Amino acid sequence: MANAEKPFIVPVFLPHIGCPHRCVFCNQTTITGVSHKMPSPEQVCRGIQAYLKYRGSRRTTAQISFYGGNFLGLEASEIRLLLDAASKFVAEGSVDSLRFSTRPDSISDERLDIIKDFPVQTIELGVQSMDDRVLALSNRGHTASDIGKAVGLLKKRSYEIGLQMMVGLPGDDDENCLRTGQRIADLSPDFVRIYPTVVLPGSVLGKWYRNGTYSPLSMERCVTLVKDLYLLFRERRIPVVRMGLQASEDLEKEAEYLAGPYHPAFGHLVFSEIFLDRAVSLLASKKPPLQTITIKVHPRNISRMRGMKNRNIETLKRKFQIRSLVIFPDPSIEEDTVEISEFRPSA
Ligand code: SF4
Repeated sequence: MANAEKPFIVPVFLPHIGCPHRCVFCNQTTITGVSHKMPSPEQVCRGIQAYLKYRGSRRTTAQISFYGGNFLGLEASEIRLLLDAASKFVAEGSVDSLRFSTRPDSISDERLDIIKDFPVQTIELGVQSMDDRVLALSNRGHTASDIGKAVGLLKKRSYEIGLQMMVGLPGDDDENCLRTGQRIADLSPDFVRIYPTVVLPGSVLGKWYRNGTYSPLSMERCVTLVKDLYLLFRERRIPVVRMGLQASEDLEKEAEYLAGPYHPAFGHLVFSEIFLDRAVSLLASKKPPLQTITIKVHPRNISRMRGMKNRNIETLKRKFQIRSLVIFPDPSIEEDTVEISEFRPSA
């Protein structure tokens, strides 16, 4: 379950700047009249300097990340100004490289030429779905073939590629999402992120939710679906660096969503379900009722095995009629492994 080694990220938020569209799930406000201002290079530098203080003595690589807008959708002069400002930190050695996220239909040879002399290492694309019908229903304004072409162009120039997908989009279903996962895996990105669709006020989806034409995924179904996608990517050796929305980055304010599977520890819920599945399959061969069961996991996996609020323990006890269940930390056990032993008192 190893994730790609995470770099220290210095974020530069560009709220919806450079975006030519209005996806139904997005509450971007540029189109509704409130325009977001492009930060000046001085503001960008000040923000980066302030954030670098949090790096401390961490030895991981560091990247400055432009996110929240459509980076390659900006004017060429704006792209250069921002990259110029950030590149100074690479030149002085306080960060290693730059990254940004952008729409697949903003990738072209012409646009990539603008950035070719800057130390950009990683580019993330908002793919969301590989189904043209789902993309159209979400008003994404691009097709799956645009995504394939964009990835091809990025590979030709040897960028590290991250692909972001969403589950629970209008018109999508579990099977289709898994097909999107397969098709994303076939593009061999360096990493992926999986986001549940939540309903934001001010979005088109918000209207559809209120008039009953859209229902978000339940938390339970969403966790299971994201778990299946995670396992699919893991089998293809593609790191999943994020599951679920992060309040500070992906939601402007945590309280400001109308409905949908948002949980501050969504990834933890997914991992807990994976550990529960493992324990269930190991216990399946035993005949209930069971007296005393010990589950051994690596100390770092204790909370995943227990589940949120000990839910996995309760589920296992109920399902297998276990009288006493102990979860035991054992550093000699490999991470992500579950071992189970049963104590039966002699008659
Ligand atoms: S989700 Fe991204 S591409 Fe879609 S409207 Fe919002 S900022 Fe633009």
